[in-house]
Amino acid sequence: MSKEEAPNDLQIADGEIESNWDTVTDNFDNMELKPELLRGIYAYGFERPSAIQSRAILPVIKGHDVIAQAQSGTGKTATYSIAILQRIDAANKNVQALILAPTRELAQQIQKVVMALGDYMNISCHACIGGTNVREDMSKFQAGGAQVVVGTPGRVYDMINRRAFRTDDLKMFCLDEADEMLSRGFKDQMYEIFQLLPQDTQVNLLSATMPTDVLEVTKKFMRDPIRILVKRDELTLEGIKQFYINVDKEEWKLDTLCDLYETVTITQAVIFCNTRRKVDWLTEKMHAREFTVSAMHSEMDQAQREVIMKEFRSGSSRVLITTDLLARGIDVQQVSLVINYDLPSNRENYIHRIGRGGRFGRKGVAINFVTQEDTRMLRDIEQFYSTEVQEMPHDVADLI
Ligand code: ADP
Repeated sequence: MSKEEAPNDLQIADGEIESNWDTVTDNFDNMELKPELLRGIYAYGFERPSAIQSRAILPVIKGHDVIAQAQSGTGKTATYSIAILQRIDAANKNVQALILAPTRELAQQIQKVVMALGDYMNISCHACIGGTNVREDMSKFQAGGAQVVVGTPGRVYDMINRRAFRTDDLKMFCLDEADEMLSRGFKDQMYEIFQLLPQDTQVNLLSATMPTDVLEVTKKFMRDPIRILVKRDELTLEGIKQFYINVDKEEWKLDTLCDLYETVTITQAVIFCNTRRKVDWLTEKMHAREFTVSAMHSEMDQAQREVIMKEFRSGSSRVLITTDLLARGIDVQQVSLVINYDLPSNRENYIHRIGRGGRFGRKGVAINFVTQEDTRMLRDIEQFYSTEVQEMPHDVADLI
């Protein structure tokens, strides 16, 4: 029976992998990393590895296929980035590692992390994403400017097919947000790309969520994978307080949000709606009432998307209304409030969405707008994550 058919006996274990690896190296100095990489790590501001980093970096460096599951904001990006940088041969200008992510924004973010950690290594990392100029993309490869490629599946596939991206020297393949990458929307594309990679390419999967059906799929293309689960009690979303507001009817959500606006702008906030149309609608309504908000969804052109992200990352815009496009992976440390204007229709995305706040153990608040029809969905989420979502208190501003 699939998960969707069995809403009443959902256990958290259903979404968790089982670890078969327990070696922990809790200091970057003890990982035998190249000195220039170690320097990049410390210069980036990291002092000690997080729970997932202390467990997963070394097996990836050793060449094992690894499936790693750890909560949002606990440093999965640096986990595979450090391992990749350690294994790259700087003298070889061909592509040696490929990282795929579900959105352009996430791919660009990862590319920046790789470049920053590898700052002293003289390594090139190229973001190969849709919505950009195909010729320019090809010339990056041809000029040897891509030892590590971070991309979205469509464009990466295109580049391999055009033989701009030569896979001959590829040795590592990482799927960030792996469950999303192996879900219906991307699965066929993943399969096509996978077929074009050398047979012995190491495969690594990372995500905060790993539904069992996805794990089943991984058996087809991973070899004796090491599975690493960082349990919720090691570094969890505990720092994120979850609340709901009973808005009763859909029509009352807008006023509720306006009432909350002052609280929302204390730091930075992301507001999630379930559709692009709703994002546009809400943005218009907020603007009409003279509230400053920005908006982002996948129908906007790439240049516009980049401007909006830049403004939000720099803090010059503070409130971002968006869809599940930004539910996963996006890391803006100042975000401490997430509002689900609409409850997500999928449980995995609930945890990814609220994980946009409270990065790396910081505190965060998630507020769910709940209409009468949503009450069941909220209960379902509570049960699925064995968590309690309380009614929002009056002093919520103090928690942000
Ligand atoms: P995840 O992919 O698990 O959601 P990220 O890789 O985006 O998380 O990391 C979340 C935040 O934590 C980022 O801002 C990152 O720079 C920071 N971070 C990661 N590892 C460390 C570390 N060892 N020390 C300090 N900060 C870290």
